[in-house]
Amino acid sequence: MPKDIMTIRQDNSDRERRKKYPIRCIECGRKEVFPAVIRQTIQRNHDGRIYDLVIDDLPVAKCRNCGEVSYALDSDDRIIAVLRKQLCLLTPEQIRANLAALKLNQKEAAVALGVAPETLSRWLSGGLVQSRAMDNLMRAFFALEDVRNGFMRADMRGRFGVIGAGKRRRAV
Ligand SMILES: [Zn+2]
Repeated sequence: MPKDIMTIRQDNSDRERRKKYPIRCIECGRKEVFPAVIRQTIQRNHDGRIYDLVIDDLPVAKCRNCGEVSYALDSDDRIIAVLRKQLCLLTPEQIRANLAALKLNQKEAAVALGVAPETLSRWLSGGLVQSRAMDNLMRAFFALEDVRNGFMRADMRGRFGVIGAGKRRRAV
C-alpha cells in the first residue's frame, strides 16, 4: 500500500539523519561529536577589511569528550548574517522586498545595477555579502526614482550624473 511505503521511507530518512551524529572526533578519536551552539568571536575579512564578529549563537559540531569544536554546515550562514547586521548592510529579505515593491525581476535589477544576475542571485540567497559601495548603490536605486530612471532609461544613457548634460539637452 502506498501509505505504508511512505511511512517506511520517512522512517528510513529519519534514521539516516540520526546516523549523521555523533561523528568521530578528529582530536580524541571518540565518536562523541554532536551539534552544539556556542558563543564565539570570529574575525572575518570583508571588502578589504577585517571585522571582529561576536556571535552569540553559532551552530557548530562539538565533541562531548574533549571539547573540540569544528564548523558545521550552517556555521557560515550564521557568520554571514551577523556580518551583514554589524555592517548595517541590506539583508536578502530587504533586497527582495524592495524588488517586489518596485515590480522588478532579478534580471532587470541586475542589468540596471550593472552586476551579473548571478551576483544579485547570490546576494539574495545570502551566500555573498555585497560591498559597502554596492549597498549604497542599491539603497539609492531603491529609494530614488531619478536614480532608477538614470540607470534604466535609454535616453539617459551617458547623461545621468554628468552635470550640465541635462541642461544642454533641454536647450537643443
Ligand atoms: Zn574529542
